[in-house]
Parts: sequence; C-alpha cells; structure tokens
Amino acid sequence: MDAAVSRRAACACGQLALDCRGEPVRVSICHCHDCQRRTGAPFGWQVRFPAEAVAPSGEAAHFRRTADSGRAIDFRFCPRCGSTVWWTMDRDPGLVVVAGGAFADATLPPPSVEVYAARRHGWTAMPALAGIESHP
Ligand SMILES: [Zn+2]
Ligand SMILES: [Zn+2]
Repeated sequence: MDAAVSRRAACACGQLALDCRGEPVRVSICHCHDCQRRTGAPFGWQVRFPAEAVAPSGEAAHFRRTADSGRAIDFRFCPRCGSTVWWTMDRDPGLVVVAGGAFADATLPPPSVEVYAARRHGWTAMPALAGIESHP
C-alpha cells in the first residue's frame, strides 16, 4: 500500500465527499439486483478501504438495508443529489466500501472479484476481467 496516494470520492453535486488514503484493499463488481437499482447501471463497483484510511466531509443521508446474507448494510448518500458515495457493512465494520464511480478517477486499480455473476446482463462482456475471481 502506498500511503502517499490519496483519492477523493464525491457525489454528483460535490457537497458530500470521502477522502481515501492509500490503495484500496479490494476492488470488486457486483451484478446483484440491489446494486443495479442503487446505481442505475448493469452492475455495482465497490472499492474497499480500511475505515481508518477514509475521512468524510459534507452532509450524508442514510439508508439501511438487509443483504441476502441477512446482515445489514448502511449506505451514505447525498440528500441533495441522491448519489451514494460509500457504505459500511455490519459484517465487517473495519471496512468502508466506496462507490467506484464516485472517484471519477481512471487510476483506480481494476476489480479482482466479481459477485453475483449469475445476474450479469449478457451484453456486459468483460474481456479485461478474464482473470477475475467469481462468487455466486
Ligand atoms: Zn450531492
Ligand atoms: Zn450487489
């Protein structure tokens, strides 16, 4: 991990942001229906950081939902523009998961894990992810 690296994730209007120090500990994509609805896109893009490596700014609204695992996820989003910027999981409170697109930064490392591949839209061919580790 390069602690000198710092990236800022932000909502569409810019008032809610999360500064993230160092490289992410995991980058994944998820094809589940909840991620499709949250993003409006065919899959979600999750970038995990240790909780101590991130610093929020701005006003966040909160949405808690129960995942298929039965454990809760707490989403933080902008009350003005509605963009989800990050979330935390009851399952692993030491991690903060950031919406990949919120960085608008092409230097992010590519995903190494794919979740809910069974719900992937067939037209989303991902040749760059040929070596990706897939979970149900
Ligand atoms: Zn906003
Ligand atoms: Zn998902």
